[in-house]
Amino acid sequence: MSKPTPLIAGNWKMNGLAVALSEAKAVAAGLEGVSARVAICPPATLVARAAEALAGTKVAVGGQDCRAEASGAFTGDVAAEMLVDAGAALVILGHSERRAGYGETDAVVAAKVGAALRAGLEPIVCVGETLEERKAGKALEIVTGQVRGSLPAELAGKAFTVAYEPVWAIGTGLTPTTPEIEEVHRAIRATLVEQFGDQGAGVAILYGGSVKPSNAAEILHADEVGGALVGGASLKAEDFLGIIKAA
Ligand code: PGA
Repeated sequence: MSKPTPLIAGNWKMNGLAVALSEAKAVAAGLEGVSARVAICPPATLVARAAEALAGTKVAVGGQDCRAEASGAFTGDVAAEMLVDAGAALVILGHSERRAGYGETDAVVAAKVGAALRAGLEPIVCVGETLEERKAGKALEIVTGQVRGSLPAELAGKAFTVAYEPVWAIGTGLTPTTPEIEEVHRAIRATLVEQFGDQGAGVAILYGGSVKPSNAAEILHADEVGGALVGGASLKAEDFLGIIKAA
């Protein structure tokens, strides 16, 4: 199975007003010769404007979450179809900030993945262990369990990526060693092949957690790393481009 095209996706989280779109446009302007796929996932309020600002460029736009239901009395929430309507092509699901902050279980994430697929979005499904889980020697068990529980069978034949984001590496400046990243990515690969056969062998497995220009090349060239999900360093075009160009 040939290596999947790497995906470098920026997760703006709850950062960025409309002025930040100038950074996204600067990213788009700097992509000549880049073969990786590139996406930015701004706050929901900016998805439509980002899609408009980036139309015709190589930068795709994604959401950061969606509801499993298609519509209804869910004050404050966003449906997958609404993200598509606003111009999104992808959606981040199961980010640890949602698993921890909103009690999203694997089953909830799997239901959201199903909704994203029905709307035509490519899900980026996040998994990752806490520091306590790693210290207890449970990282592989936790992460592979999340992969099994969060990826529904409906993903067969559909485009999706998995992002391994150790919770303790997010926004902390800490990263696992390259062998530690490779160990988890190989375990995720084996689980994907178990679940999806040949298709699982070709799914890009992103790494996320304190990726920056100075560590991107080493991380992105590690075995089974098929791209990056970038938080803080995706907010400035110069930093994000530095990471993209390391892919
Ligand atoms: P970070 O966040 O790059 O700021 O560590 C990554 C993420 O949460 O997706």
